[in-house]
Amino acid sequence: MKHTIHLILFLTLLSVGACKEDGTQDFSEIPSGDVDITAVVQASFGNAYTDGVSVQVDGENISISSTGLPDHKTPYWGEGHEMYEDFPGTNHANMNTTMIGFNYVMTIPAHPAEAASKEQTELGPVGMALNGVPIYNDYEGGGLLAENAWSTFDAAGAHPGPREDYHYHCEGDYLTTDDAKLIGFLRDGFPVYGRKDTDGTYPEDLDTNGGHIGVTADFPDSIYHYHVSNEMYSTSGLYVIKSGAYHGTKGTFTQ
Ligand SMILES: [Zn+2]
Ligand SMILES: [Zn+2]
Repeated sequence: MKHTIHLILFLTLLSVGACKEDGTQDFSEIPSGDVDITAVVQASFGNAYTDGVSVQVDGENISISSTGLPDHKTPYWGEGHEMYEDFPGTNHANMNTTMIGFNYVMTIPAHPAEAASKEQTELGPVGMALNGVPIYNDYEGGGLLAENAWSTFDAAGAHPGPREDYHYHCEGDYLTTDDAKLIGFLRDGFPVYGRKDTDGTYPEDLDTNGGHIGVTADFPDSIYHYHVSNEMYSTSGLYVIKSGAYHGTKGTFTQ
């Protein structure tokens, strides 16, 4: 009996593979890419918003912690708040929300690498912007983003979810607008940029996941990177940050 339990335990450990005891992904056991993103992650997240965002490096794993609260104006702070501003255009969302801080931790590989099979992004955080706010793809709870969702977007292309968890879906005033800015990293460790490349042109060779290999301001020796989609999303007039699959292996995003 005792031996059987040990065998089961052994097989369970085998099947868990690269997962640590605490459930986080251990990237040291996954084939790694050429580019080390550690220095850029440390510099970018630190400079963008030091209050509430911190970066911890543990060998091949980089963990970024944040409250998820934006460092910019939004109507979702509520009228009377110093960072309150009206909705853009004719958007009128239900304002019965409050901004809640979370204890987000996103763990990404120091050497992001292309995955053998590409995993689709899912509902919920697919990455983190440099100010610590989660980045979502083009899905909401009910499926693909629909008009009743984008009417709730503030000027930053963001809104709070059902748990009052503020997150970006689209290009917006405080993140990126038609530029080549580094806006954050996805859970596979690859960086996300605005719609343009550093030379001011729109990339024309993006793969089905919205990325390509090339030089950026932060990675002059070239790296795979995502771009905000250059096609307007349905009739929204907005550019979605991310749709499709991860290029690399997804790390954890906990709260
Ligand atoms: Zn949303
Ligand atoms: Zn590019």
